Amino acid sequence: MKYSYVSHLYCPKCSETYSTDAEHHLCRCGSPLLVQYDLDSLKHHLKKEQLQARNPDLWRYHELLPVQDEQYKVTLGEGMSPLLPMPELGEDMNIPKLHMKDEGTIPTGSFKARGAAVGVSKAKELGVGELAMPTNGNAGAAWSLYAARASIGSTIVMPIDAPKITRNECAVSGANLYLVNGLISDAGKIVARAVERDNLYDVSTLKEPYRIEGKKTMGIEIAEQLGWEVPDVILYPTGGGVGLIGIHKALKELQALGWIDENRMPRLVAVQSEGCAPIVEAWRKGDREAPFWENSSTVAFGINVPKALGDFLVLDALYDTDGCAIAVSEDALLEEQKTAASLEGTFVCPEGAAAFSAARTLRNKGWIQESDRVVVLNTGAGIKYPDTVQIDVPTLQPHENLYDTKENEHATN
Ligand SMILES: [Zn+2]
Repeated sequence: MKYSYVSHLYCPKCSETYSTDAEHHLCRCGSPLLVQYDLDSLKHHLKKEQLQARNPDLWRYHELLPVQDEQYKVTLGEGMSPLLPMPELGEDMNIPKLHMKDEGTIPTGSFKARGAAVGVSKAKELGVGELAMPTNGNAGAAWSLYAARASIGSTIVMPIDAPKITRNECAVSGANLYLVNGLISDAGKIVARAVERDNLYDVSTLKEPYRIEGKKTMGIEIAEQLGWEVPDVILYPTGGGVGLIGIHKALKELQALGWIDENRMPRLVAVQSEGCAPIVEAWRKGDREAPFWENSSTVAFGINVPKALGDFLVLDALYDTDGCAIAVSEDALLEEQKTAASLEGTFVCPEGAAAFSAARTLRNKGWIQESDRVVVLNTGAGIKYPDTVQIDVPTLQPHENLYDTKENEHATN
């Protein structure tokens, strides 16, 4: 029995194929590459029931991952995050079957660990010495820490405004860390020049084909956690969109394996901020690719991506599943973050809060039905963004009693 049923890389634009035994980044035509598996063969060698005895991490799906030899597996215990019912918040927005897939609980505190675990493992298998990437923070933190675990060097470039904690995570891992006075797109250009000059292994979003394979495990887990059924709607905060592309790919693979109903797909929703909504603009026009979003800005830093290389794959996934794209305001997402914490005790990241806010709006518009089973991806822990929440709490002198102060408001924002 093989550890991986990986077959080859293929181009979704021109159908060119490549081997997974050598380093590849983009197709000759400039498109990202995707990983193909020998699903016909796997179908005859693995039953989904066999997974039950395996460890609760993403490597339980190793046949559907690209690492061929288990000795190259680099893990910090990532995956199988909880799929939590959200009854109070669901009641508040009239979505009784509201669930949260909580990625705040996995190593490095964000879903980026999934892509890093699989991407770094494959890099190790390919004999990579040093990787390089631009990042909005969390991906750089995850990749530099997993690279350290794999004894691979890393060079990370992030915007000066990226969350400070992610800067510290990169630095403590021993990465060569640089800040750029600009956006992730500017960081990307700097990395591209370094890759060419210093022959580094480029792991920029979708310039490396294996990160998406780690991200897709979110989709497999959701199906497994729902007893091999899919929900009606999945909302995903969309920057580079790799998770959304990955979830769509995963569900297609599960259909091919016969593990889920081949006629049922959740409607996928790409959630963006009004301050950076290129996918939403493209979707409204029915376009297959998104524009560059000028002067983008949002507190949901992970989705501040003015132009995504995989925009056409995100849009394909939306059109293919009768999904949609929606932008939420900064005020609405900050309000939703407080509502989720006060009603459910869950401190979600601003990107996750944007996705909850979008669910509320889509329910109000009737796009989400009361009977729909809805899964919101919370892509990271709120504690990684301590400055998003502005508070003003009363300070007592030792002799004072509670309620002595006039300003008895515990949180203002
Ligand atoms: Zn191509």
